[in-house]
Amino acid sequence: MFRYFYFSDKQTSFSQGVGFFYKEFLYDDYAVLNTENSIFRINRCDNAVQIQKEKETAYVFVSKDYLSFTSEDTSFVSNKKWLAEEAKDINDYFRGKVIFPSKMFVIYANIPRSFHISPYVIFVNSIKDMIHEFNHYTFGYYIKDGVSDTWAEILCETNTLLYLKKKYPMLYESELELKSIGFYPQEYGSKVMDFYKKFNCEEIKIFSFEKALIDSQKKMNDKVFYSLLGSE
Ligand SMILES: [Zn+2]
Repeated sequence: MFRYFYFSDKQTSFSQGVGFFYKEFLYDDYAVLNTENSIFRINRCDNAVQIQKEKETAYVFVSKDYLSFTSEDTSFVSNKKWLAEEAKDINDYFRGKVIFPSKMFVIYANIPRSFHISPYVIFVNSIKDMIHEFNHYTFGYYIKDGVSDTWAEILCETNTLLYLKKKYPMLYESELELKSIGFYPQEYGSKVMDFYKKFNCEEIKIFSFEKALIDSQKKMNDKVFYSLLGSE
């Protein structure tokens, strides 16, 4: 018996259940499958762009030719041209600052919330979310977080702000506004603003704090994060 979580373009949210010797999953363009016990093996992995190796990750399948747009430096592939094009600027901006995977799969989907299927796949519904989810490769995967930790969200949101400030000033201003008026849950709003202001909103200071984390932490919880932040 195996337990699974499943998501595909045929449904609007994750479903879960148990399977026995055989189970059929249907999808048109993409599907995500997380199986809890590693004894279970998928025999046929046609169209898999990611194979689940650890419990926290998942298999991701996309139909042939679905991700038909590639970024200039070939490190991102996407089902949308505008996302693949944005990837070049994201690469240019974050290179040397956060950790880059060799390949990242960016799937645009009409979903209420974006998410990262670590390590290599992100599901997004906007450019802003693409920046956030891309940063989760470093903050959440390269440096692991715990389920109840918020530090990774704070850093991904902060890096998103820095990128928006450089490239989309109008969007940046409205994000600052939304974060300040309590529009988001704290880890996407007020906690981000506290962190951002502590460094005077200066990217050099923020990236150097993050670099120190990247160089020293493999797994981090909020307690460690705030104690390191306190000594800044
Ligand atoms: Zn996040």
